[in-house]
Amino acid sequence: MRHVKKGNSPDFFEACKTNLPENAGWHEFSENQELSECKKALHQHLIAEQAELCIYCERKISKDISHVEHIHPKDVSGKFAHLTFAYTNLVASCNGDLCDTDNKKVYKPEDVHSCGHKKANDFNEKQFINPVQDENIGEFFKYNKDTGVMSAANENARAEYTINLLNLNCIRLQNDRVNAVQAVFDVILKTNNPMFRQLSKQEMVRILLKRNPPFPFISFLHFYFAASQASIP
Ligand SMILES: [Zn+2]
Repeated sequence: MRHVKKGNSPDFFEACKTNLPENAGWHEFSENQELSECKKALHQHLIAEQAELCIYCERKISKDISHVEHIHPKDVSGKFAHLTFAYTNLVASCNGDLCDTDNKKVYKPEDVHSCGHKKANDFNEKQFINPVQDENIGEFFKYNKDTGVMSAANENARAEYTINLLNLNCIRLQNDRVNAVQAVFDVILKTNNPMFRQLSKQEMVRILLKRNPPFPFISFLHFYFAASQASIP
């Protein structure tokens, strides 16, 4: 998980909010044709704001495998009803893989169910590490570079709560993190840019990890290359 700085709410979103009935719920965005188009545009805007990475797990997302996520849930208790349409509370999360038929054949549900759909309406505001509010997220988490296991740095209780709530340590994400390293190696091995080829491998990695848009699982990659002085092909 990494910090994402939210920009201002886009004008089109603020404009369509003025068409909502009083005390509207989020379902209005699905039931009304015009608002439904607005929600689709918002979804795409959020994905772009996050450089196409899931707000929680950092896997690469598109509209098809993600949803508009309320960090403070829009649950039936209405506790966070005032934040239902607040741009600062809206992000794009992957869908986990609970509904993915192919993954179901390989993994048990608990091994793939993660992120926004796993979190659902279960939420402790004080415990949860909020990716758009907590700027020092890197200090909360650490990783095993060989296994991709994510854990709480310094046994931080908020980090443990957040990892468990989002199931960020599921087997599928552990595997995805380990496999993400190859994407960096592939760029190094395949580059034809003569200026880039002159650099040392360590320098190449340093530049690639600053790339925008970032590689999927970029937080793990920073940890991997910083912690290991990894042997680079
Ligand atoms: Zn995710």
